[in-house]
Amino acid sequence: MPTSARKKILYVTDQPQQAAGPMAQAIQAAVQDHDVCCFHMTAEKASGIPGPEKGTGPGSGHSTALAHYSFTCPAGSPRSLGTTVNKALDHQIHQWGKAFDLVHLDGSSPAIQAVNLHGNLKELPKVLSLGRDPVAGKAQASSAGAQNPEVERIKHWFQAAGFTYYLPATQQLKQQLSGEYGVHAEKMRVVPQNPGASHWLADLYTETLATCGKLPGGRPYRQCTKCVLDTADDPAIQFDDDGVCTYCHMYKRNDPRAVFKGKDKQKELERIVDLIKKSRKHVKYDCIAGVSGGADSSYVALKLKEFGLTPLLVHVDNGYNSDLSNNNVKKIVEHLGFDLHNYTVDWEEFKNIQLAFLRASVLDIELITDHAMVAYIYNLAAKLGIKYIIFGHNYATEGILPNGWNHEKMDLLNIKAIAREFGGMHTLTMPQLSFWRRPYLYLIKGIRGVTLLNYLDYDHRKAKPEIMAKLGWTDYGAKHTESIFTRFYQNYILPTKFGIDKRKAHLSTLIASGLMDRATALEELKKDIYTPEGFRADLEFVINKLGITEQEFNAFMTAPIRQHTEFPSYVTTHYPLEKAFFDRVRPLTRLIKGRKNKV
Ligand SMILES: [Zn+2]
Repeated sequence: MPTSARKKILYVTDQPQQAAGPMAQAIQAAVQDHDVCCFHMTAEKASGIPGPEKGTGPGSGHSTALAHYSFTCPAGSPRSLGTTVNKALDHQIHQWGKAFDLVHLDGSSPAIQAVNLHGNLKELPKVLSLGRDPVAGKAQASSAGAQNPEVERIKHWFQAAGFTYYLPATQQLKQQLSGEYGVHAEKMRVVPQNPGASHWLADLYTETLATCGKLPGGRPYRQCTKCVLDTADDPAIQFDDDGVCTYCHMYKRNDPRAVFKGKDKQKELERIVDLIKKSRKHVKYDCIAGVSGGADSSYVALKLKEFGLTPLLVHVDNGYNSDLSNNNVKKIVEHLGFDLHNYTVDWEEFKNIQLAFLRASVLDIELITDHAMVAYIYNLAAKLGIKYIIFGHNYATEGILPNGWNHEKMDLLNIKAIAREFGGMHTLTMPQLSFWRRPYLYLIKGIRGVTLLNYLDYDHRKAKPEIMAKLGWTDYGAKHTESIFTRFYQNYILPTKFGIDKRKAHLSTLIASGLMDRATALEELKKDIYTPEGFRADLEFVINKLGITEQEFNAFMTAPIRQHTEFPSYVTTHYPLEKAFFDRVRPLTRLIKGRKNKV
């Protein structure tokens, strides 16, 4: 074995050095390939100074690859034991010239807890192993109604340290852990609950999950010091010297480009409103605006009125719209007097595509709705000869979204491929926007999308009371939950199956745009994402709507995750060619532009 692959491993066990059994076997096996140090912790009521007794076991004195230390933990003095253990650690590290790579904890006696909770191991970069997969066996424990010793052990370790620990939790496991053990479990993440708790333990546990292959990237857990995103949200996330993440930097870089500020902002807004007004030739409307009933699009509609524009409002219903959102749309129309165009999807077809996406086990089930909505509005604009489409998207509340949290929304090829493979559907009637149609609409038809809120000082906290007062708009709480499916998808499917808590992207954006402070965001994240009743009601609504049983739905939830790009996709075929093409012609277009500017 090459020396670079040799690891320094520390075993901390409550087995004495002479004991035979699995632990001794594991140590014997490890010493073949690695440098091993064993701390035998015995809890005794004996008085006296706790201390290491080095070199009494096999291997000591013969091989530098194996060292044994025995410690006794006198009752009531775990802190002094911690100090002694640390001295022994320092000694061993000094001998080996390198910190430990792996710490394996075996047992849960007070002596071992003393090492863990009162010892000061934080200088050592390492991985913690709890012997067995702490997650395994939960289901059996739950069904048997018996206390699972593993759960007990983890609970003990982590609660004593003031941690919330996060596991690859099913809803059932979560409920069991919170009900029976008073422990809040989420997916693959360890979060300290009190400020006194050490990040060290959180890092160790998350690293353990990483080495078990449970956390992609195999990186230690780390959270941005500015926003709330972490290594579990994006395994490739990077941090600067101050611990600020890539997304915060990206936001700051793009903000001036995306959002107009200062004096220029008003000028730019007037210019764009003027352009939209002038674009109207022979049609009744100067623009199209989608309205969902949510705060952003309702606010946009109000502003369009105030700017003296004449939009055609378009409302797309995929069959999941809540009564509140439908009511909000009605109120917008009543108060503003705009024309409304309703489009309802062919439910049978839409349902079958959704089921195909669930069977395919891919992440972005909302791709179908999002694509249909944009495609419908663009195609309608082309048909009616309208040049401007106003979107409710905005940088202030939606600027940050970690990589891999959604799929490319214009990927019609992917929708078609999945519908064909998992739904046997060969033709689709849903609104579509192909790769080739987009340049046609842009270049030939001259259709432009406008994200109006980026020209305003958009602050959702002020916007909501304004639309309530002026439109009779009703708030329904969380972002983008005007559709029951969206709510269920974001609150249950995404976090439970894919380990994605969409709130974190939203809250991080609010922090980045200065609309919220980090402490408030962290408080917000502690709240339950669903009430049990809310979850139950939405689950039943969704499975009834899709015409499937709860068992069938649960089978989707537990099926292995597949990537969108495992199926035909523009992302793997058309987009790379498109990029290569533009890379080629860019020097040419620059040349042309340069000449134009001279003239
Ligand atoms: Zn950040």
